[in-house]
Amino acid sequence: MSKKIVAIDMDDTICHLIPKAIQYHNMMYPDLPLTMEQIVSFDLSGIWHPSCSDDIFFGRPGLYEELELFDEYTVDEVQRMTADYDVIIVTAARPSSVPEKWRWLQMHLPFIPFENFFVAKRKYLLEFDLLIDDGPHNLIAAKEAGKQTIMIPRPWNRPVQPDFILKDSWKGMNELVRHILT
Ligand SMILES: [Mg+2]
Repeated sequence: MSKKIVAIDMDDTICHLIPKAIQYHNMMYPDLPLTMEQIVSFDLSGIWHPSCSDDIFFGRPGLYEELELFDEYTVDEVQRMTADYDVIIVTAARPSSVPEKWRWLQMHLPFIPFENFFVAKRKYLLEFDLLIDDGPHNLIAAKEAGKQTIMIPRPWNRPVQPDFILKDSWKGMNELVRHILT
């Protein structure tokens, strides 16, 4: 029997994108500093500095290579998961950031082969059994398609958190995945 497929998001699931992007935003625009709690959706155009843009906020060269791991358990938990499941990394990357994201994966999770690296904004088109993600749109679509989900709770998914299984740390992620998929 083939292994069940666990799809894992990158940004703000196995690494911290928004905190780093906020840090650079606030360095560029100290007169209008942003905080994590303000990020209640992925449309930041109403709250970032008027001179900021999608390209400036999310497209800073090198940004995706310097992101910190989600926590001290992330690498070990993902690695152990690959023994029992077909673990695929699925990220809605802008084309210019794809090489940076692949290099980040090679640096931190070198056991992920490139055939398990999926660049996809429309994650609902992919086949998987369980999705670990912070994006409410991805999780809602997966759930509606009858798939299992684990939500990384962040300020931008707070309104739908009651509808999902939440996990704010990678500690014990394998146990939770096994519990859900068994
Ligand atoms: Mg994400």
